[in-house]
Amino acid sequence: MDPILVVFSGGQDSTTCLMQAIKERGAEHVHTVTFNYGQRHALEVELAAEIAKEQRVASHKVITVDWYRDITSNALMDTETPIQREADAPFPNTFVDGRNALFLLTAAIYAKSKGIYDLMIGVSDADYSGYPDCREVFVRSMNETLNLAMGCTFNIFAPLQHLTKAQEWALADQLGCLEYIRERTLTCYEGIPGDGCGKCPACQLRAYGLNTYLASRHD
Ligand code: ZN
Repeated sequence: MDPILVVFSGGQDSTTCLMQAIKERGAEHVHTVTFNYGQRHALEVELAAEIAKEQRVASHKVITVDWYRDITSNALMDTETPIQREADAPFPNTFVDGRNALFLLTAAIYAKSKGIYDLMIGVSDADYSGYPDCREVFVRSMNETLNLAMGCTFNIFAPLQHLTKAQEWALADQLGCLEYIRERTLTCYEGIPGDGCGKCPACQLRAYGLNTYLASRHD
């Protein structure tokens, strides 16, 4: 079984990816990398480490990108900035410029050093915030760029690419980990794990998806 490196933040999306990778390949073939880049809540990085340990993955690496905050500004990293979406803006001010490109490049460099060429990332372009680096065209382009940059063949897997949040909960349920993901992951912009604050955009999207899925399950 080929090993795979999962870009793993400890949130709902990447934990769902992690569980799928474990199911497909076995935890002993699944590696994880978490980026500490000055996100609002350091707890995210701690939770990712705990989940990786609980799931007995082959390895868990934390990479600190401590210069990121010095060169860019957004509501995800600046706790003083209120999270909002301007009426005419293409996406909310939580968007972090270049994040998925930076993460995938860094993950690929690290993966190659370990002889790993399969990468997984939990991006989705369905009912999402319109982040440009969550689109399939970006993921395909990045895959091509990594291959050209390092002279080898990477495969980027994005199993959530076309899933709505409700479909993502359905996948978690199929994988037998709906309750685990519901309780253990952090999505909330206020840094509250599980069902979170219930008010921020991330909590609302998560709850809407969960309720939509649970309602369909009981039909
Ligand atoms: Zn919240």
